[in-house]
Amino acid sequence: MPMLDIQTLASGSSGNAYVIRDGVTTLLLEAGIPVKSIARRVSLSTVDACLISHEHGDHARVAADLMVKYSIDLYASRGTLDALGLSDDYRAHPVKAEEQCSIGTFNVMPLHMKHDAAEPLGFILSSAHGGKLLFATDTYLIPYKIPRGTTTLMLECNYSLDLLSQSISDGVTDHRQRDRLRFSHMSLEYLLRYLSENRDRLGAVSEVRLIHASSRNGDRELFKRKVEELIGLPVSVE
Ligand SMILES: [Zn+2]
Ligand SMILES: [Zn+2]
Repeated sequence: MPMLDIQTLASGSSGNAYVIRDGVTTLLLEAGIPVKSIARRVSLSTVDACLISHEHGDHARVAADLMVKYSIDLYASRGTLDALGLSDDYRAHPVKAEEQCSIGTFNVMPLHMKHDAAEPLGFILSSAHGGKLLFATDTYLIPYKIPRGTTTLMLECNYSLDLLSQSISDGVTDHRQRDRLRFSHMSLEYLLRYLSENRDRLGAVSEVRLIHASSRNGDRELFKRKVEELIGLPVSVE
């Protein structure tokens, strides 16, 4: 099965942007870095649409610019568009969890996510040319099984509970920050449990990318090793 071509332009709390191509359609997932930094890696005139998971700046900082100045269609939930003040633009396409739509050669299925934002979404992107991506970030759990036939996983792995406890005892993270993390971002421990519960859904998976690692409570080497040990596939941490 042909793979999707994925480029991570930036990942983490300082900004997120990912380019997903199937050879025909080019999608930008998230718009949380300066337009200049996006344009350096992908020609904006080739971008068919931009999808935004939620309104936080590290995901949506330049969503308005891309839409208004570069005429790129924007797909996000109504709650996200309202929070960004972008609902009225004709290039804004409100989408709903569990109601699929198509963008070029991609079928898009938005998913409910659990985050401290108005109406956060994850996405299943299935290309007519092969390749099926499950994208879930900024969520402390994934309320779905991995869809059958998924070829590519892009899943948040933000922090590990061990490193978080350590950083609390070191005084680097306080209890309020810890409570926010626990109900907004995905831990390594949750991710490992999720993947082991979905082992029978990994048959077609050939690419695993862990995204949105915390610089303070994350350890990329540890994340990579633990997930590779569990699923027996190469994993990249971005
Ligand atoms: Zn984020
Ligand atoms: Zn967020």
